[in-house]
Amino acid sequence: MKYDRTYNFSAGPAMMPEPVLEEIAAEMMNYRGSGMCVMEMSHRSKVFQQIRDEAEADLRNLMGIPDNYKVLFIQGGGTMQFAMVPMNLLKNGTACYIETGAWSKKAINEAKKFGKVEIIASSADRNFAYIPDCSDLPIPDDADYVYICENETINGTTYYELPDTKGKILVSDQSSMFLSRPCDVTKYGLIWAGVQKNVGPAGMAVVIIREDLLRDDLPSFVPTYMNYKIHADNDSLYNTPNCWAIYCCGKVFRYLIDNGGLSAMHERNVEKAAILYDYLDSSKFFTAAVDKKDRSLMNVPFVTPSKEQDADVVAASKEAGFDNLKGHKSVGGLRASIYNAMPKEGVIALVDFLKKYEAEHSA
Ligand SMILES: *Cc1c(COP(=O)(O)O)cnc(C)c1O
Repeated sequence: MKYDRTYNFSAGPAMMPEPVLEEIAAEMMNYRGSGMCVMEMSHRSKVFQQIRDEAEADLRNLMGIPDNYKVLFIQGGGTMQFAMVPMNLLKNGTACYIETGAWSKKAINEAKKFGKVEIIASSADRNFAYIPDCSDLPIPDDADYVYICENETINGTTYYELPDTKGKILVSDQSSMFLSRPCDVTKYGLIWAGVQKNVGPAGMAVVIIREDLLRDDLPSFVPTYMNYKIHADNDSLYNTPNCWAIYCCGKVFRYLIDNGGLSAMHERNVEKAAILYDYLDSSKFFTAAVDKKDRSLMNVPFVTPSKEQDADVVAASKEAGFDNLKGHKSVGGLRASIYNAMPKEGVIALVDFLKKYEAEHSA
C-alpha cells in the first residue's frame, strides 16, 4: 500500500476515500491560489461561499433532493439532532419512535424531555437483532412524526422497507448509512446524518428538511441555534459553521458523483457485505448477530463462541494490521464497519484473516 495505511474498520470517525485525502493534502497550504488553507478562511469570504454552495449543489445532485427541501450543515454532530428534532417538530405533543437499538434509544430518551413519546414498535425482545414489522403501526392521530434510526450502527440492522407512517411525517437518522444507497427523499419529512460515519470528519450533521416543517412559532425555550429555520434562512451561515467539515464533505460528494453516484455505491456495498456475511454464515466459529433479512451493509456485528475468544480475535486482528474490530462496549463481540470508503480488498483481507484464525483455533 502506498501510504502504509491500515484497513480501519472503525464505526466512526471512519475511513475516507484515499483520493479525497490526497486532494485535501494537495490543497492544504494554499487552496486554489487563495494563499491560505480552508481552515484559515473567513466563512464569509467568496472563496468559502463557493465551497459551501458547491457542496450543497453536489449533495442535491447526488441524492436528487427536491427544491422544496432545505439542506443544512449544523454543528453538534449527531447527538444534537436527538434534541433538535423534537424541539422543532413537536406541535401536538406526541412523538412516535421505533426502538431498534442503541441510537434509537438515545433519541427516545432525549425526546422525552420535550413531550410524550410513544414507542410504537421495538425489537428489544431479541436484543435488537432484527427490524420489527412496521406495516401496521399503532400511530395515534395526534402524532407529530414517526422517528426511525435507519441503520443501527451498534446493533447492525437496517431497514429495507420504510415504515408505513399512515400519513405522518417520517424522520430518519441516516448517520451510518448516509449516501450508501439511493434514497427517495420525498418519502421523508426530515433526514439527518452525522457525517463522521460514512462521509467526512466529526462534528457536523447534514439535515435535509421539507420546507413546510420550518417554523416561526417554536416555543421560546428553544435556543436560537437549535431552530432549523435559523439555519435555513441563513444558508447554514448564521454563525461560523464547521467550515472544514463542509469542505471535506464536499470533496466526498464530488468523489461519489465522479464514481457513479449512489447506485454504484450500493452495488459495491452489496458485494462487499456479501463477502463478509457469506463467510460468517459458513463459519462454525463466527456467527453474525443479526437476522438475515435486516442486516446492515455498513456495520457487521459478529461473535465467537465466548467473550474470551472475542477478545483474542480482536488482539490477533490488530497484530495482523487491522484496526477497530472490537464491538461497541455496550454489546461486546466484534464489529466490522465497512462504509463506502472501505475497499473491497479490505473486506477480502479481513475474511482471509478470520478464515485463518478459525482454522487455527478449531479442534
Ligand atoms: C454515531 C451516531 C450518532 C451520534 O453521532 P455523534 O456525532 O457522535 O453525536 C447518532 N446516530 C447514529 C446512527 C450514529 O451512528
